[in-house]
Amino acid sequence: MDEEGDEVGRLQNYLKRFGYIRPDEERPYGLKIDVEKAARQPEPMVFDSPTQKALKRFQEFNRLRPTGVLDKATINLMLKPRCGLPDFVVPEGQIVDYVYSGKKWTKLDLTYTFQNYTPDLTQSEVQSAIGSGLFQWSLAAPLNFSEASSGGDLKFSWGSGDHGCGYPFDGPSGVLAHAFYPEDGRVHFDEDELWTNDSPPSGIDLASVAIHELGHALGLAHSNDTNAVMYAYYSGIRRTLTKDDIEGIQYIYGKRKWKCPIAKIASTTTIPVIQTSTQFLREFRDEVVLKSMFKTPFERILDRYYELTPIINKKMDSSAIFRQIVKGVVYPFIIGTKGAVSLTLASMRKSNHSRLRMRP
Ligand code: CA
Repeated sequence: MDEEGDEVGRLQNYLKRFGYIRPDEERPYGLKIDVEKAARQPEPMVFDSPTQKALKRFQEFNRLRPTGVLDKATINLMLKPRCGLPDFVVPEGQIVDYVYSGKKWTKLDLTYTFQNYTPDLTQSEVQSAIGSGLFQWSLAAPLNFSEASSGGDLKFSWGSGDHGCGYPFDGPSGVLAHAFYPEDGRVHFDEDELWTNDSPPSGIDLASVAIHELGHALGLAHSNDTNAVMYAYYSGIRRTLTKDDIEGIQYIYGKRKWKCPIAKIASTTTIPVIQTSTQFLREFRDEVVLKSMFKTPFERILDRYYELTPIINKKMDSSAIFRQIVKGVVYPFIIGTKGAVSLTLASMRKSNHSRLRMRP
């Protein structure tokens, strides 16, 4: 690359945008950039020593060879879509593999609201993609999420270009989404992307981006573990929290306390079947716990479910016949249970409305 010119200017802007060069603004997204790690302001459009230092830091953080040269591997990474938040922020507390932003919610029961939806997917597809991320964070830490019709703690929305928060999006690709650190709660998705939920994705996989942004909204910064959900770059489906992410969130909020030791083990499993099918159990448990009458038997069913699912999953992996049986028998049973629980709850609500009402 040339030592001067537009290309250098573009490189400098990129490095500045993601925290490798000191920003003009003090606190982007509500958190300070780590000025110790960021290079000082370079001469515009000149490949000077601050630019080189920033480029080296970028390569180091992203586990590329720290050549200080804009080589092919570095360009390839920079061309990949990613999260809009900078990589270096000022942390408080110790840093392990993940980076704790130093910000957290002071309560564990959080509400969320959809301010609008992307037209790329149906509303229920959007809710399920984001719900899957919320669910996983809530398994890892003692956080509880419930949807509110307005004014939630977490606020999801889609916008294009300048969408009013001071950090405009950039059209298709590049930045996919950004979120603000606690206790702000805004999570913005770039409407110029094509949001999808198929696999392999025909566009940008919403669930993978959402679980990452939720990590920011809960207080995690970017991880330099390239397999972690909290790694800044998007490379297809990554819908499941890794050890690095789980340790990060537990560092902030502690671990969820499971009554049943088997449930505890199952909660850390990364087998997708468990995660998808426990979602409704968890949702209903929350509802049941709120209503309090059903609590004990339901907890027992849930614990029993956790106890059995690892065995079922293991067997499903090894036997095609068993897989068919699960699909034919177990899934309908789960769906049937879900129906029964909702019917019971509905009838309870109807017949006993006054008794179930929350006391002030
Ligand atoms: Ca974009």
